[in-house]
Amino acid sequence: MPELPEVETLCRQLQKKIAGKKIAAAEVYDSKLAHVRNIKKRTIVAVRRSGKTIEIILDDGHSVLIHLRMTGRLLWQAEADKPIHSRWHISLDKGDLYLVDPRRFATIEVLPTQASPTGNDILHDFDWQAFIAKHGKRRTKVKNLIMDQKAVTGIGNIYACEILHAAGVHPEKMAVTLTNKDWQKIFGKAQQILKKAIDKRGTSISDWRDLYGLKGENQFELKAYGREGRPCVKCGSKIVRIKQGGRSTFYCPICQQ
Ligand SMILES: [Zn+2]
Repeated sequence: MPELPEVETLCRQLQKKIAGKKIAAAEVYDSKLAHVRNIKKRTIVAVRRSGKTIEIILDDGHSVLIHLRMTGRLLWQAEADKPIHSRWHISLDKGDLYLVDPRRFATIEVLPTQASPTGNDILHDFDWQAFIAKHGKRRTKVKNLIMDQKAVTGIGNIYACEILHAAGVHPEKMAVTLTNKDWQKIFGKAQQILKKAIDKRGTSISDWRDLYGLKGENQFELKAYGREGRPCVKCGSKIVRIKQGGRSTFYCPICQQ
């Protein structure tokens, strides 16, 4: 499932490729998206990210909101070849943008444009002191809390493992036991790790491909996620895997206590 760095990568690539362009044609191929309004003849003003939603802002006061969910992909095709599993597409000058999605969970909505993305986005408007005031006393495991999109938007499973490893915090520690210093470290590392992942165009472990169908390169940077039984890069002891809330958590039992 694409996380923040992958969605941000797409938004940046889309901004460069389609902002300022006029939509020559729009087509829906999947009956599950039959409600999506035809946006032919609109011009794309800009593309931005709101949490994990891609927002294509149009010149008529509306935005196209795309959430990729499990297997959704946005793919740019310079030639007019419709890829397999296409569910929606727009034609622009010198190319086409397709939503490709074998499992058909991705959603598209066309809604009035909001003033600006709101919320606790870890890379935009996150206030870690307000976070501590609101959530610091909770008896919730730290990994579950930093993945709670209502508390802080933008940290998914892969990056949560990486962030806690970098910060040296055990994923099962209760939020209430952490100090201000711990939180500051966690959110400092979060911003560092997510920014680096954006520079590397995301993590391609399974499905993720960018706008041009290329893999990201952040999978080569992972220090904890997917490294069960392999030596910790900091201390050499073996990375272990546990289950938390149905998801795999990877951590170092020596560095993260
Ligand atoms: Zn270690």
